[in-house]
Amino acid sequence: MKKMRIAIVVPLYNEAGIVEQFHRRLLAVVANLPHTFAFYYVDDGSTDATAEILARLAQEDARVHLLLLSRNFGHQAALTAGLDHAEGDIVVTMDGDGQHPPEMLPEMLALVLQGYDVVQAVHVDDGQSFSFKKATSAAFYRLINLISGTRIEPGGSDFRAMSRQAVDALKTMPEYHRFLRGMIPWMGYRSVILPYRPLERLGGKSKYSFGKMLKLAMDAIFSFSLIPLYIGVSLGGVMLCLALLEMIYVLSFWLTGRQASLAPGWSSLMFVILIVGGMLMVLLGFIGIYVGYIFQEVKRRPVYLLKKSNLPEKSPHE
Ligand code: UDP
Ligand code: MG
Repeated sequence: MKKMRIAIVVPLYNEAGIVEQFHRRLLAVVANLPHTFAFYYVDDGSTDATAEILARLAQEDARVHLLLLSRNFGHQAALTAGLDHAEGDIVVTMDGDGQHPPEMLPEMLALVLQGYDVVQAVHVDDGQSFSFKKATSAAFYRLINLISGTRIEPGGSDFRAMSRQAVDALKTMPEYHRFLRGMIPWMGYRSVILPYRPLERLGGKSKYSFGKMLKLAMDAIFSFSLIPLYIGVSLGGVMLCLALLEMIYVLSFWLTGRQASLAPGWSSLMFVILIVGGMLMVLLGFIGIYVGYIFQEVKRRPVYLLKKSNLPEKSPHE
């Protein structure tokens, strides 16, 4: 096997209980590989001892690099920070909770060496247990694939290996609302899917709160599709057609001299007003979201801010 420089990017948020265990397990896997490795741990504004533990690991081993973000920016921003700073021929991103088995690294790296630019690990479901997270995730992937032009693999994760070319391409995409699972397939390049069975967390609880999951889904939907806008516009069109039909209907009473038989119709009027009002609000809401997104993009705010790192100074997205 050719000797390559491999960077492993791991975002961490309040994982003090397991980070060391994770690192040891990763070391055990890479020890058997002929490549040189560098580890980029991104501390996403943890409030526990994650940063201190990482600093100790970095002191013991020069291959351990750490990036401390100035606050909790979220998983996608933390991954971006790592990808921006990671050096090497191949960059692997994986969660630091042990759910992405490091034992898959040899196979992933072998595929990049075979010429694939993106090796995307996709989790297969055991089909046994039901959970809220699984159900909402399945519904989300069905929806996003229905409305976006980019195929986004269900069961996708941010466990993937990328060639230097793919990482450099990703770095040219400075958008603020980031959904890497969509941005990377959007780039194209030679990709391959590698199924895996996610493991149990080494410890601690999921750091993806319901709010964070919802934000990720929103970022994905509104940054990958204009369809919500079109839905609003089409609904508005349907409402206008209905209004026209009603006008013709009422007019027919007047034309045939039966206007006296027209009921006062207060309730139907209210009904229509409410429906139309509702539609307008939905449509305005969609427009508002896009305008909000445009506003944020126009500001060109950085996706994350570094507080400290043991790397040479570099600004993100230069
Ligand atoms: N994570 C992060 N910032 C956050 C939330 C999570 O860096 O705001 C990290 C977390 O420490 C873990 C990875 O992202 O290494 C995936 O998060 P988690 O395991 O909690 O998500 P789940 O597997 O439950 O989807
Ligand atoms: Mg996890």
